[in-house]
Formats: sequence, C-alpha cells, structure tokens
Amino acid sequence: MASQLKITVICDNRKYDRQLEIAWGFACLIQGLEKTILFDTGPDHRLLVNNMAKLAIDANTIDTVFLSHLHRDHTGGLDSFLQKNSDVEVYVPQSFPKRLKDEPRAYGAKVVEVTEPLNICEDAYSTGQVGKFIKEQSLVIRTDEGLVIVAGCAHAGIIKVAKVAGVLHTVNGLLTGKILLAMGGFHLEWATKSAIRKIISALERSGVGFVAPCHCTGEKALGLFKEHFGNNCLSIGAGKTVSLDDLRQSADS
Ligand SMILES: [Zn+2]
Ligand SMILES: [Zn+2]
Repeated sequence: MASQLKITVICDNRKYDRQLEIAWGFACLIQGLEKTILFDTGPDHRLLVNNMAKLAIDANTIDTVFLSHLHRDHTGGLDSFLQKNSDVEVYVPQSFPKRLKDEPRAYGAKVVEVTEPLNICEDAYSTGQVGKFIKEQSLVIRTDEGLVIVAGCAHAGIIKVAKVAGVLHTVNGLLTGKILLAMGGFHLEWATKSAIRKIISALERSGVGFVAPCHCTGEKALGLFKEHFGNNCLSIGAGKTVSLDDLRQSADS
C-alpha cells in the first residue's frame, strides 16, 4: 500500500521553493506508487518544464498524466510535457473537447477517457467525472494510514469529492474510509465565511486528518482552514513536498 507516497508540487499560485516560478494553476508529481503520475500540467508551456528542471524531475520517469479538468491552468503545460515524453497514458474526463484528446494522441500517447470511478494502478483511483457543468476527476490514493485525495479545483466542492472517494471505498471494498489528507484547489475564492466554515466542519466530521488547500482555495478560506486545522493544515506552494512519512511523523508529534 503506497507506503512511500510522495507528492511534489510543481506549479501553484504560491511559492514554497524560492527558485521556482509561480502562476495561477496547479500541477504536482505523485511518486511511490506502481506508476509515477503527473497530476495536471499547470497553465503554460514554459512553467511546467522549467519548474520540473529546477526540481530535477526527469519527464521520462513519468508513466501517467492525470488531467483533472479542462481549464487551461491545469492543461496548459500538456503539450510541452509530451514533447519531452509521449510514452505515457493520459487520463482525461470523457467530456473533454476533442482537441484535448487529439493532441496527446497525435504525440503517440495513449488517451484513457474517464467516466466512472476507475483504477489507475495499484492503490490509485480516479473518482470518475464529478460535477454537472465542469466535469472533473480527482485522484484517490490508498495508503495504510487512510485515503489521500488530490483535487485540481474541486469545482463540484471538496465535500462532494470526499463523498465520492467514500463511495469508491465501498465499491471496491478495499479502501479504508478514513481520509488522511485532502489536497489541492478547493475553489473557495468567492465563498462566504459561513459557507467555508460549513465545509470545514463537514471535513472534520468525515475524520479528515490533514488538509492541504492550495491553488484556487483563496486567501479567506486558507486563513480559516489554518485557524481551524492548525498544524494539520499544510502550507502548500510550488516546490513543497508532502510525504506519507512526514504525515506519520506530524501525527505522532
Ligand atoms: Zn478550474
Ligand atoms: Zn484551476
């Protein structure tokens, strides 16, 4: 079970490693699974590959590209990545425009269109397409400490994503229901304080261990999450690494 899980933020709105460039968008690298996964690709051609180079991430070590949803700030770097490595499987929501499916195919990549929850490799699942208007998939990883959810923008709401992750666990019967970590854009820039507080208490009721809101979460929500979860709210920015080992250690302390 993903005991060596490590997530490295390549692109985010905020900076963690001073050397890295930042922009409105999200991308992270997920290591320690059967397959190495690039989750989203940031907003543009340059930023993804530049930050990958600064983080000494070799594109050829990546097996799978997982695109959460069609927004440019998550798909903009795809082309530049495929120029470096097209020997990958690209998981996209089935609702993607044809252009975004044809592009990776033209590079020779294998495109997997996702509708329903789906197993990607050992211990890693897509939630399937979630949401009415913006259809988005999130990644759910099984660890022996609980589930790790990675969301791009969580346009349908992080609670909805967490619920689907909970359904995933009953579908395959193997995932534990407890959510260890919910990470990614929570899309709460325009949410009211009381709406944000409701989300925080729902997450808390679900027994979530750690939260790592970033990207489009918004300053107001970031502040409230930090206030509520304290050290269990991880500060995320480009260059930050979150590993299962770190989470275990901070849970012990
Ligand atoms: Zn979005
Ligand atoms: Zn976004």
